[in-house]
Amino acid sequence: MKQIQFVFKDEESFDEDLRRIRQWSDSHLYSTLLFHLFTGKKDQEKIEYICGRIKKSLPESLFAGCSAFGSIIYGDFSDADIVLSCTLFEYETSKVEILQYSLSPEALKDVAEALVKEVDDRKWVKGIEMLSTIRGLSMTELCDGLSKVREDVEIFGGGALADDINATETCVFSSVGGYSEHGIIFILLGGEDLHMDVSFITGWKPLGSYLNVTAAEGSILKELNNKPAYETYYKYLHIENNEDFFLNTLEFPFFYHYNGIDIMRAPVSSNPDGSLVMTSDMESGVKARIAYGDPWTILDATQDKARELLPFVPECIFIFSCAGRRTFWGDNEAGKETLAYQQVAPTSGFYTSGEFMRTGRNLNQHNVTQVIAALREGIPKLADRKTIGIQHKGFRGRVSIINRMATFIKATTEELEELNQQLSDMARTDALTGLFNRGEIQRRITEEITEENEKDIYLIMLDLDHFKRVNDVYGHGEGDRVLAVTASILKPEAGILSEDSASGRWGGEEFMVMTQAEGKDEAVALAEKVRERIASNRFEVVGNVSASLGVTRIEPEESADAALIRVDKALYEAKEGGRNRVVYKEAEK
Ligand code: GH3
Ligand code: MG
Ligand code: MG
Repeated sequence: MKQIQFVFKDEESFDEDLRRIRQWSDSHLYSTLLFHLFTGKKDQEKIEYICGRIKKSLPESLFAGCSAFGSIIYGDFSDADIVLSCTLFEYETSKVEILQYSLSPEALKDVAEALVKEVDDRKWVKGIEMLSTIRGLSMTELCDGLSKVREDVEIFGGGALADDINATETCVFSSVGGYSEHGIIFILLGGEDLHMDVSFITGWKPLGSYLNVTAAEGSILKELNNKPAYETYYKYLHIENNEDFFLNTLEFPFFYHYNGIDIMRAPVSSNPDGSLVMTSDMESGVKARIAYGDPWTILDATQDKARELLPFVPECIFIFSCAGRRTFWGDNEAGKETLAYQQVAPTSGFYTSGEFMRTGRNLNQHNVTQVIAALREGIPKLADRKTIGIQHKGFRGRVSIINRMATFIKATTEELEELNQQLSDMARTDALTGLFNRGEIQRRITEEITEENEKDIYLIMLDLDHFKRVNDVYGHGEGDRVLAVTASILKPEAGILSEDSASGRWGGEEFMVMTQAEGKDEAVALAEKVRERIASNRFEVVGNVSASLGVTRIEPEESADAALIRVDKALYEAKEGGRNRVVYKEAEK
């Protein structure tokens, strides 16, 4: 595999470039020539002119491209209006095929289904590069659909944009479907000698505590921790809700956990109601964390990634990098986060309005991310010993302080979170027995009652018999030991009650269990088992003890109090009946 990259200057020099490529390709054996073309303007006439010239001088070639927010050429940022690359596949076995579809909200599902079928029909496909117009579209449905593509196929790519980062009108084009303002292109790549390594990096760091996404719809992030999402940005970063919102939040997008990986989402704007318009869809019920873009961390991440790619010995590298990353760095520095790849292999790509990559089965839409697709034909060539590393003296001082502060905040947050967890565990458990305390078990009973429940829930209340005597005769310490052993019998590890039952210490030597059971008989049988286990246990000093138990079913629509009063009565009857027994009490009809 070989590659040439160049900038379109004018018609004359372009023809000259094409002549050179003609010569270059004629001096090689190849199976496919594939042009990529990225342009800042969605100028149909110009694009068609360029594609026409390519067709004329290299009729056998394929081409595909899109409008973009700048491009990457030989590993560096380029703001040239039109940038091209020509990849020459040398192996006879390598195959490239382009498919193009038109895209609309209604078509997303069909397009995905069509592609799944096409790929099934082509066993040779190993990877799919995807170029798509995505502005104004929710791509979740497409991604879900494409997750059904044969599992061994890599998918990667980017969303079209234009030289204005806010552009809503974008385009894609290819040698099979021509120019389209609502379209998607799939470049199918494969064959037995073609190899791919696809990965992504962000380089952003999570900052502060986890936030719960409590309300979201499509790309609208409504609430975090039950408050308008915007308040988070104001509270932690003092970012005002004004026209600079997008630029100010760019350094602080969200990490959120979806499909088993951390995905980034950036806010685009803030609505008057405090909801945020995000770069792509977010789901409620997930956890999110504000992230911080730290240049030094990002560079480390890209250099690590470049080093990681060395043993693969790529022959060319395609980058799909978020438009936000270019804005984050600024044009003078943007190239720094891609130059490391150029030290591995010729690197080209573009700045996108969304990055796509498959992880496991799932195709995910990323933001603020760099997707890196490295390609090679044949077995790895004997590679020169390459060193990856770029000198960045310029911003080390300021950035290293910010970097340390971010590390500090992260470490402190983790400590606080751990402490918080310990505190809330402490607030819920009884110190002597390790069971839930009365407040917690009461809360759980009330919660279970308010939930729509199809299962039958039973309460079992237990009180040790003549426990006062145990204390009086053997002392409080021995009494405590009996309490601890009784409690351990009520834990799932004892093998009587299941994991989804909840046991708590109700008071002194009284315990309350809430458990599921299939009918009264099973509930009573559970209580019987507990009673037997206690009665048969021989304490070293105290000898044998016994317990009385009351059992009742929580009736649908009744209050927790009503059920608790009844189970207490059942227990009382067990005591009255002679102790060391189980009494079941039916609700009065
Ligand atoms: P009954 O069979 O009627 O339940 O008789 P009882 O002696 O168990 O009756 P009662 O409920 O009056 O006695 C409860 C005793 O439990 C009183 C108290 O000494 C003891 N107790 C309460 N909390 C603790 C504790 O944390 N540790 C110990 N060792 N004893 C406790
Ligand atoms: Mg008692
Ligand atoms: Mg008691």
